[in-house]
Amino acid sequence: MTDLTRLQQADKAHFIHPFTDSKSLGEKGTRVIERAEGVYIWDVQGKKLLDGMAGLWCVNVGYGRQSIVDAVSKQMQQLPYYNSFFQCTHPPAIELAKTIAELAPKHMNTVFFTGSGSESNDTNLRMVRRYWDLKGQPNKKTIISRHNAYHGSTVAGASLGGMSGMHEQGDLPIPKIVHIAQPYWYQEGGDLTPEAFGLQAAQALETEILALGEDNVAAFIAEPFQGAGGVIIPPSTYWPEIKRILAKYDILLILDEVISGFGRTGHWFAAEYFDLQPDLISIAKGMTSGYVPMGGVIIADRVADVIKQQCGEFTHGYTYSGHPVAAAAALENINIIKQEKLVEKVGAEIAPYFQQALQQLAEHPLVGEVRGLGLVGAIELVQNKAKRQRYPSNIGVGTWCRDACIAHGLVMRSVGDTMIISPPLVITKAQIDELIEKALLALNDTYTQCL
Ligand code: PLP
Repeated sequence: MTDLTRLQQADKAHFIHPFTDSKSLGEKGTRVIERAEGVYIWDVQGKKLLDGMAGLWCVNVGYGRQSIVDAVSKQMQQLPYYNSFFQCTHPPAIELAKTIAELAPKHMNTVFFTGSGSESNDTNLRMVRRYWDLKGQPNKKTIISRHNAYHGSTVAGASLGGMSGMHEQGDLPIPKIVHIAQPYWYQEGGDLTPEAFGLQAAQALETEILALGEDNVAAFIAEPFQGAGGVIIPPSTYWPEIKRILAKYDILLILDEVISGFGRTGHWFAAEYFDLQPDLISIAKGMTSGYVPMGGVIIADRVADVIKQQCGEFTHGYTYSGHPVAAAAALENINIIKQEKLVEKVGAEIAPYFQQALQQLAEHPLVGEVRGLGLVGAIELVQNKAKRQRYPSNIGVGTWCRDACIAHGLVMRSVGDTMIISPPLVITKAQIDELIEKALLALNDTYTQCL
């Protein structure tokens, strides 16, 4: 029996994968990834793939960073674990909180550590409700989110998210979380211009606040651009109008930067890119470049001061909040991003090159729209470009394209018939050319399959 067959059989027998139909594991044969370097990964059969998704939007500094391995190893030898409960802490967590506060928007100087993006959003839910209790407005409990948002997989995370497939499993959302329309012009904009549609989508927030009563609404949660929903970038009119509405009704903004944080937009945080002043920012993924799990919430002074001064014990926390090994990995990851000026390089050079290169695919007969910002992109696969009309969903054109990408040595993810890309920040111009070349070959194969 080859090693691959043995691994696949053991995998199918013993491992339920996240977001995977377990039955299909046997039919298709799971891809077993064995090693990685830079922007490339290799499977156990030696097939080399350009990782256009940076793992799961997280390996910002690329694979194979010896200095992170060294930092983690040193920390493991010195102090592999201690908690940050009950008036204890340790140097890596302290240094990391200070470092993140320095990188965050000026009005945000405090961090709560978690183990993942989902836990960060659970923390947000508890923190905003506690904040309004302490402010003497205990009815301000409801959180408004958006359809097709992704905020994680825990009960609160999946409830805050707007994925109907997730809500169907587990009787979600939990009470006092509601969802409004998403700003997805390509799919839902109809005859409106993107600008008019952006305004309309934002105004759905005001309508919802008025329906609920402003005294009952705690916060609005949103990704700056929706990632897992299909790299949906709001029209230019959207965020300014959202800001106006939140200020008018004194409602907190939770900005979920689990994907967009740590350089992906050419800024440390997308809050800067979109000129937003959030009250809470969810972080994870690029915080450690995925080398070890870690997440957190960056908290504005307005909220942190109330929690610090008035809360008494904040009865919330995780065994691994501020884990010393994860904090050491995060500190070295941030150090690499600074030393190699990755944020500046992405903003000035790599992202503009990537966005221009992506546009080469827009002319393809299968492609209805190419959009992106920073180092994320989306390619809409359609049957009729002029009408923005998709293929019937049961065909699975996106899956065909994803498989064709793999055949040509590229990892690109499909969300329905939207192809999404989010490569490591260290990708070079030559590697971007390679990515586009492989994507074009995959689009050609997919188009032939569609005829
Ligand atoms: N928030 C956003 C915007 C995400 O994209 C994700 C994961 O993809 C999460 C939260 C959940 O993070 P995790 O999988 O680390 O719990």
